[in-house]
Amino acid sequence: MTDRAYQKCINPGCRAEFDCGEALFKCPACGELLDIRYNWDKIKVPGKLNEFAKRWGTRDNRLDFSGVWRFRELLSYCDDEHKVTIGEGQTILQQNDAVARYVDMGAGCLHLQYEGLNPSGSFKDNGMTAAFSHAKMVGATSSACASTGNTSASVALYAHSCGVKCTVFIGSGRIAFGKLSQAMDYGAQTIQILGDFDDCMRQVQAVCTKLGLYLLNSLNPFRLEGQKAIMYRIIEGLGWDVPDWIVVPGGNLGNSSAFGKAFSELKELGLIERIPRLAIINATGAETLNDLVNNKKLRWNEGNVEQAIIDDYYADLTARNFSPHTCASAIEISRPVNLKKCLRAIDVCDGVVRAVTDEEIVDAKAIIGKYGLGCEPASAATIAGLRHLRAEGLIGADQRVACVLTGHALKDPDVTVNYHKKKQGEFSNAPVEAPNDLDALIKLIR
Ligand SMILES: *Cc1c(COP(=O)(O)O)cnc(C)c1O
Ligand SMILES: [Zn+2]
Repeated sequence: MTDRAYQKCINPGCRAEFDCGEALFKCPACGELLDIRYNWDKIKVPGKLNEFAKRWGTRDNRLDFSGVWRFRELLSYCDDEHKVTIGEGQTILQQNDAVARYVDMGAGCLHLQYEGLNPSGSFKDNGMTAAFSHAKMVGATSSACASTGNTSASVALYAHSCGVKCTVFIGSGRIAFGKLSQAMDYGAQTIQILGDFDDCMRQVQAVCTKLGLYLLNSLNPFRLEGQKAIMYRIIEGLGWDVPDWIVVPGGNLGNSSAFGKAFSELKELGLIERIPRLAIINATGAETLNDLVNNKKLRWNEGNVEQAIIDDYYADLTARNFSPHTCASAIEISRPVNLKKCLRAIDVCDGVVRAVTDEEIVDAKAIIGKYGLGCEPASAATIAGLRHLRAEGLIGADQRVACVLTGHALKDPDVTVNYHKKKQGEFSNAPVEAPNDLDALIKLIR
């Protein structure tokens, strides 16, 4: 179908390769994750990143309008006729000095990459535009995903935009209301499983295999290709320069994996001179990555990841009947499917992992709401994590940091309303009760 790209197994003992015309979500030979690789000599990649800026002038072309496909030479696995876009990636990189003060950073240093501006209100749209384009390229007609919420909202939106059927699996009672409302409103068949996200993830893989449905979780390597564009837009927002640090919440670890791949490709292509460092933030109630990296010392090790450490860790979770719990439902995941790719990203970006409590998350969220554009709880883990890294001195006050705010403030109204109304934190801003009386009202105004 194309000689510009192919799929390749990340297992160094396997290295099997497959055509991009195949819809796979694991290596059929060994079961490991697949990567998209490019034959760069067959692609006309601009010599300098700022050449992509020319496309702002031709935004009547739907691909130039997209904040993903504007960078299409960097994800060149499908012909233009198959590309599905609904105008994703019109995001803002906001420099924010008030939030910088909260994390003890200098003026001008902190930038918030606000992915809540995407059509479905989260960064997932960057991945879906890429994956649905592949789905159209291989002629898929039905799709499915497991979801903590935002994947289902995004899948539903993209599926109906390009005439593909979709079924979304969500954990019963584990989904934020804004996201559930979207899945239903956008017409997805929504199945609530009595279980958590990890249960959904297992079931959806089995269902997709049995029925030949197109899988849209981040196991799908094409999704990660689209998510690379978040990094391109941060670089663009900094005048085509890289920051010192990228901070991102860690759930299924698709973003962190995609970001590492984006930077290593840009470096290989000579489009950037240095690779920023990556900080991945877990919630303490779902901190598999933090445990494995910081306590069990799990490393990428050129692809020879010590599987026994992972197996033992998961066996222990199973033995304890462990189910992850955090108010940041988007990262309430204990068996992250992209774990190994994320280890590679940590290796490439000299990355670090931290975990933050729900209390820290909701306080940080209130600060982002008050001084920024607002976000959902998982996104606020970045600011809570950055605060730790500043206190440790690992990140300097004058370094340039970009935090990825992954989802919109309206995604999870329950957490927000409870925080403020029930005065759960330092920055709660509860409504004031007042009689229906002018003098009393005037006295109340502050
Ligand atoms: C999906 C999601 C995450 C987790 O991202 P991963 O790529 O799975 O680590 C974080 N925040 C929000 C808002 C999400 O929707
Ligand atoms: Zn393999």
